[in-house]
Amino acid sequence: MAKHIFVTGGVTSSLGKGIIAASLAKLLQARGYKVTIQKFDPYINVDPGTLNPYEHGECYVTDDGAETDLDLGHYERFLNISTSQANNVTTGRIYQTVINKEREGVYLGKTVQVIPHITDEIKHRVRLLEDDGNYDIILTEIGGTVGDIESLPYVEALRQLRLDLGIENCLSIHLTLIPYLSAAKELKTKPTQHSVKQLLQAGVQPDILVCRTEHALSKEIRNKLALFCNVQKESVIEARDAESIYDVPILMYKEKLDKIVLKKLNMKVGKTLDLDAWKGFLGRLKNPTREVKVALVGKYNELQDAYKSIHEAFVHAGASNECKVNVLPIHSEGITKSNVEEILGQVDGILVAPGFGERGIKGKLVAIEYVRSNKIPFFGICLGMQCAVVEFANNVLGLKSAASVEVKPKTEYPVIHLMESQKNVTKKGGTMRLGSYKCKLEKGSVSAKAYGKLNIDERHRHRFEFNNKYKKQFEKHGMMSTGINPDNNLVEIIEIPDHPHFVGVQFHPELKSRAENPHPLFVSFVRACSEYRRNK
Ligand code: GLN
Repeated sequence: MAKHIFVTGGVTSSLGKGIIAASLAKLLQARGYKVTIQKFDPYINVDPGTLNPYEHGECYVTDDGAETDLDLGHYERFLNISTSQANNVTTGRIYQTVINKEREGVYLGKTVQVIPHITDEIKHRVRLLEDDGNYDIILTEIGGTVGDIESLPYVEALRQLRLDLGIENCLSIHLTLIPYLSAAKELKTKPTQHSVKQLLQAGVQPDILVCRTEHALSKEIRNKLALFCNVQKESVIEARDAESIYDVPILMYKEKLDKIVLKKLNMKVGKTLDLDAWKGFLGRLKNPTREVKVALVGKYNELQDAYKSIHEAFVHAGASNECKVNVLPIHSEGITKSNVEEILGQVDGILVAPGFGERGIKGKLVAIEYVRSNKIPFFGICLGMQCAVVEFANNVLGLKSAASVEVKPKTEYPVIHLMESQKNVTKKGGTMRLGSYKCKLEKGSVSAKAYGKLNIDERHRHRFEFNNKYKKQFEKHGMMSTGINPDNNLVEIIEIPDHPHFVGVQFHPELKSRAENPHPLFVSFVRACSEYRRNK
């Protein structure tokens, strides 16, 4: 039977529960256990697919086409595993299931209530992963902050689960903040005491406290936390701010978090801890021999989380090239013909980001024209690829009014058009072309060389697509389709062979890049940027 670990958060949001959970999972995995992580989000949206990136950061997509919280990206990047719809559940989904059952008459005339019906559904979902993987340990991150109204049913479900599963099969970790008052030069434990009190009031005693702090926790502070929060002294874990999120597993190892967890769960600690690949990655990350400057041209740049997976994919690809990648966020709305040279003149490559809608498109087209004609490495993802196609149509094919129908529905030359399968779709939630699809690469292309194979699978999230009616015209003028979906002929990759590195992909390679397994297209793009810089 799988053992369960729950991670709750206290005092404030944004403490990095996802990173702590992923780091602990990494250590348990390194000790030879089969581990997975899931996230429960207390908001009413059924999934984050319809949320603006400013609200919630990037929407992460799994192989099975679930639109999920970006923490699943951390889980995959740290653990080198693939997650699925089952790994992310929201309050909206829980209620939707319960209400559907009520409409079907499943509850046989009973009054449907938060306890037991909502909490039962939460417990059912928490245990769902037990069925599919022979996992030794399942970690569950509970989103939000303890004390929020919307978190209450989750904490109650956790209380019940401790009894259902048996205390020895269940562990509760509370992540909290120990603020530093600079005027008093003191770390303060009171917010944590209050947060733990709230958990206790709800009937949950945390077994372990993980304390985010900017300063080392003295023995006195640790003892005080243990005393007031009713945990063992050894179970007070310091989580200092780290230089990189990828250092956190090592920091947690030094604090013996994995050992304490395994001891409390009555599981063997074992002698070996295989972190070789992770340490190899960290070594390359920390000791770059070169650097490049890459412009990330997008429109949600104010919020780094909006392009989380792209930033992380650059970290992985940079490490693999022993190259520090300095990512320069550029607002596409600000790019015009008269300032493009000034903005992009110094960069070694540009990535045009995914996105939706008309805002910022013009600047993206100007940027692409600049790097295409100046032979600066280009990488376009999803909307970025679509923009590359439109720019080529406008400036090389001479189809001045060509556009994507997303931007100009009545365009004369719809070089990017709505997919056939999307034409009758009216609902917004979960209706895009989502999840993993096959792609066959053209031998000898930049992409084929990068992957080192011809058959690949990549994750998608879009409604629009390259219009095959124009394919011959594009190829005649030098923009080739080098990746095709073998089942329906959709163009998934375009390249310009007469350019050092001009690659656009309809899918999202950033979603499959992992610390120990960087994405080949990011690796080859960073290499191209580095070569461009060397020859400059
Ligand atoms: N808006 C475009 C589409 O729906 C691109 C989507 C994206 O970049 N993820 O096809």
